[in-house]
Amino acid sequence: MTLTAEKPSTLTSQNSNFPLIFERSQAGRRGVIPPQAALEQNVDLVALLGAENLRSSAPALPEVSELDLVRHYTGLANRQFSVDANFYPLGSCTMKYNPKVHEVAAAWFTDLHPYQALETAQGALELLHSLGQSLATITGMDAVTLQPAAGAHGEFTGILMIRKYFEQKGQLEQRRIVICPDAAHGTNPATAAMAGFEVVEIPGNARGEVDFEALEAALSPHVAAIMLTNPNTLGIFETRILDISSKAKALDIQLYYDGANTNAIVGRARPGDMGFDVIHLNLHKTFTVPHGGGGPGTGPVGVKAHLEPFLPGPIVIKNLEGSALAYGLEHDRPLSIGRVRSFYGNFGNLVRAYAYIRSLGAEGLKDVSSMAVLNANYLRIKLSEQGFATAYPRINMHEFVATPPKGLKTLDFAKALLDYGVHPMTTYFPLVVSEAMMVEPTETESLETLDNYAQIMGEILRKAQANPAWLESAPYTTPVRRLDETLAAKKPVLTYQKMLATK
Ligand SMILES: *Cc1c(COP(=O)(O)O)cnc(C)c1O
Repeated sequence: MTLTAEKPSTLTSQNSNFPLIFERSQAGRRGVIPPQAALEQNVDLVALLGAENLRSSAPALPEVSELDLVRHYTGLANRQFSVDANFYPLGSCTMKYNPKVHEVAAAWFTDLHPYQALETAQGALELLHSLGQSLATITGMDAVTLQPAAGAHGEFTGILMIRKYFEQKGQLEQRRIVICPDAAHGTNPATAAMAGFEVVEIPGNARGEVDFEALEAALSPHVAAIMLTNPNTLGIFETRILDISSKAKALDIQLYYDGANTNAIVGRARPGDMGFDVIHLNLHKTFTVPHGGGGPGTGPVGVKAHLEPFLPGPIVIKNLEGSALAYGLEHDRPLSIGRVRSFYGNFGNLVRAYAYIRSLGAEGLKDVSSMAVLNANYLRIKLSEQGFATAYPRINMHEFVATPPKGLKTLDFAKALLDYGVHPMTTYFPLVVSEAMMVEPTETESLETLDNYAQIMGEILRKAQANPAWLESAPYTTPVRRLDETLAAKKPVLTYQKMLATK
């Protein structure tokens, strides 16, 4: 097996003096010169925009040729770490391969306008309806909204529905608490607090599961919801989930499933069958919608029938009463929490997820979860052979938490991995494990990639043990080395300074 650190990766080493587009600028240089006819069209800009809105001088735009422009942006793109270029085992973020054929499918719909007449958009509505049904089937829920634009947004939508449910029952004052485990994703307590609830945190036990007795002791008629995920954020399956859900049911406490990471169970186990009342999914994790860099997310929410009236509208309905169309939009939803996003959600992403589900089918989805879990456990054992302890050494699900030997810092490993062309794992999350390295290889990685990663981690560890200073100074080949993160936070430089660019 050849490791890649000796010959620095072209992705990270090139262009360390990469100029800004403004620095490439040469006065008078042009990319495209529009045909004269277009320029001569008699548009009265003063009448069109108003004299007060016209510039008095030309904008200071860079002047470059088309080829230089292409090279500039291609060069910038090449400096990125991405799933298409690098192994990216970022736990909890499910950075799996995004099949390119989904882009073709999404592009088929780019001519649609959200305001066009429904009879001319029946195919698009059918797709939304069918996707909603598939997601309901996959999660074991009764109804779905496709509107929310991210996982956290889905959580907020779900918790607002729970709030509305208790409001309808006249119990809003009484139900003031939302329970979250201490390992929960930060968005869970943040969502509950934003929706006006008090958050009660439950510790985990030595096996990495939520402490059942502590949870049971916290239950009362004042609790509105328990936010859980299974497998939990440590990658451990909560074996007492049915006990938890029956205790919750007895007190009418709503069980919320954080389904951002359904890669471990998709096609195989359904949160609805475990007793959950609400779930959000991250289509941009489990269902291959590209993400990262804050790109558009999609966080559909599924609910059991008793919460269906509260879903945000409009909802796509087949054979809507009073409509001659096969698919219509139901706007009249008197108990709805209201719209949470414009139009129909991130439509292109919904097409990508639909294409994924349809191309895999029920059997293919099962393969996803079995391979995701197999890959994670294989890598867990490979890393433990290299000297990285598993925080909870038992069969994990789609991800696991490892720790470096005492005295070494996870942050330093994350930096060193960049020199090997590998994106770091998630670091220091969940907070309950110190020096946590959360690794999620996903089902789309090959055996060779997993073996190579384990060897790289082993090599970094051995080099660090021989020479701690080497590890503390990594990375060596990236366009910028270690940044002073404290200074960057305290004194951020937010505008262009030539000094920085040419350093
Ligand atoms: C990613 C994630 C979220 C939040 O999803 P966003 O789309 O980033 O808002 C919530 N919970 C868990 C467990 C996650 O991994």
